[in-house]
Amino acid sequence: MDRSRFDGWESFMDCSGLAVVAGPCSAESREQVLRTAEALGKAGISLFRAGVWKPRTRPGNFEGAGDSALPWLAEARAVTGMKVGTEVASGKHVEAVLGAGLDFVWIGARTVTNPFLVQEIADSMKGADIPVFIKNPVNPDLELWAGAIERIRHSGIGRIAAVHRGVTSYSRIIYRNDPHWQMAIALRLRFPALPMFCDPSHIAGDRKYVGEIAAKAMDLDFDGLFIESHIEPREALSDAAQQLTPDDLSSLLLSIKPKENRCAGSPYRESIDQLRAKIDEIDDSLVSLLAERMETSGKIGSYKRRGSIPILQGSRWDAVLERVVKQAEAYGLETGFVTDVFNRIHRASIERQEHCGDD
Ligand code: PEP
Ligand code: MN
Repeated sequence: MDRSRFDGWESFMDCSGLAVVAGPCSAESREQVLRTAEALGKAGISLFRAGVWKPRTRPGNFEGAGDSALPWLAEARAVTGMKVGTEVASGKHVEAVLGAGLDFVWIGARTVTNPFLVQEIADSMKGADIPVFIKNPVNPDLELWAGAIERIRHSGIGRIAAVHRGVTSYSRIIYRNDPHWQMAIALRLRFPALPMFCDPSHIAGDRKYVGEIAAKAMDLDFDGLFIESHIEPREALSDAAQQLTPDDLSSLLLSIKPKENRCAGSPYRESIDQLRAKIDEIDDSLVSLLAERMETSGKIGSYKRRGSIPILQGSRWDAVLERVVKQAEAYGLETGFVTDVFNRIHRASIERQEHCGDD
């Protein structure tokens, strides 16, 4: 971890350890804000987040308490001494936040996809000296993320941090969002002096995965975590499945270790990280494709069973193998290797068909 990325942030936070911004997805009530902030303060958290205006994908869900929640955040700061911040998605939000004297803001993933809004936010921040956390857009577009950083920077804001929260995925994955670590690493290469946070809550979508994602972020040398914590997560009005109690957040923080800057200055470090992240993503895709293949194979098995068609049809498999080996050769892959892999897949597929029911 390279602490120089936090040069200039000293009056905002203690820059000696892992930076952690934590708090509920939404500010729901004065009591919920104060109870959560007090518990997090006791757990040693000094930066408190809570969404006041919530961008919801579908109408009819809880859209935040709005302006009336701003005094709750100010009170949480007065009671705990924490710095407090919320999400802004328009110039109006920025005015309201600056008027209420909050300490930081973040720009959410949906807003970052819209340069008009980011520019409006940037314009309304001119002359302010407030740290801005910028999430990646919901789609894997590095340029939109970089563009948002540049727009805010051009408005004169000095303290900007990036927050990686994964991207929407079209394939079946276990997380709510595809981590797509490669994009965060690419951003780091583009802005090496920018502090980089990971939001494991919005990547995970489920509290049981938040720890492993936070640990992975430490492996990749992120500078901080941006994480959701609610005094009663199961009762939360938004993102109930992914929020941690303050106690669970404390245990998580104890269990992960920020990496020391062991290879600082090595020109290979970032490249290795980038390639490893790519390998991880390829492996994830392989696993999800294998799962999809097996599922499809199971469906074929059901039809064979219903039509009393034998499972093993040698000529069909010979044709499959011939086709993939030819393709693989065009990529320069060794025939023996590809044949082994596909024969193994075929075996598993036959086993699946033997055991699949008609459901
Ligand atoms: C949030 O932090 O509560 C939020 C809405 O996040 P994102 O913009 O990453 O979806
Ligand atoms: Mn949320």
